[in-house]
Amino acid sequence: MNVDLHCHSTASDGALSPREVVRRAAAGGVELLALTDHDQLSGLEEAREAAHEEGIGFVDGVEISVSWRGMTVHVVGLGVDARHHALNEGLERVRSGRIERAREMARQLEDAGIAGSFEGAMALADNPAMVSRTHFARYLAQCGRVATTKEAFRHYLVPGKPGYVAHGWALLADALRWIVEAGGRAVLAHPGRYRLSGGAMADLLGEFRAAGGGAIEVVTGSHAPDQYALFGALALQYGLAASRGSDFHGPEEGAELGGLPELDTRLRPVWADWSP
Ligand code: AMP
Ligand code: MN
Ligand code: MN
Ligand code: MN
Repeated sequence: MNVDLHCHSTASDGALSPREVVRRAAAGGVELLALTDHDQLSGLEEAREAAHEEGIGFVDGVEISVSWRGMTVHVVGLGVDARHHALNEGLERVRSGRIERAREMARQLEDAGIAGSFEGAMALADNPAMVSRTHFARYLAQCGRVATTKEAFRHYLVPGKPGYVAHGWALLADALRWIVEAGGRAVLAHPGRYRLSGGAMADLLGEFRAAGGGAIEVVTGSHAPDQYALFGALALQYGLAASRGSDFHGPEEGAELGGLPELDTRLRPVWADWSP
């Protein structure tokens, strides 16, 4: 089955509306899709409806921003009840402060000789409260400072470069509690992106599992193919299920919906709960 359990719409930092994302997934052969916007559930209703029209399976999802040991870690919640009170309240808190952060990012970019990035990023953000580094990256590409958004994340917007402003996101234990209480399964997103040492990764996986985490992303657009085997082995070692998701943000911005390889058959797929 072609499963894609991680992607974004204009409800957060994706380039397409929830309906367009679902149509594109269906056209690309996806049979079971989860929309997982950052800290935001507002795209789910439209996406669920569109999935019904397209005749594909759909799982309500969210990708929660977490601060762990001073760095940002993402936790995907799958199969959550989008009306759950504690989840909604928690996410509202996580979402706050993005506009102020964006002003500070723009000040740093201004010092690096890039004018107008606050207005530029805001103009590209369909949902201004969710203005993110992705919108700044698109602005930098649009005004010709970089050739691609990927390049923007090499020279700007990352720790140690202009335009990076750290932020206090959710605590790991809180994010996991909101997901589990809302009836969902918590998945550690793209673990290979955090560049952790073996010891720190063991700490993260141990804490994640102890606090209710159930799966890790193994096949994701953020992993190089050699990382599929590495994180597959860690899933087995920690008794965690495995997930697969493109982390699609828009056409020509990384992996395509449903376009990644299958999970290794030795792994327990997180979607076993939802597939027919
Ligand atoms: P923010 O939540 O504002 O910190 O923005 C985080 C978003 O920036 C992520 O969800 C990605 O969409 C994007 N991002 C971060 N790092 C990279 C990278 N190295 N390459 C491409 N996109 C990235
Ligand atoms: Mn994103
Ligand atoms: Mn992420
Ligand atoms: Mn994502």
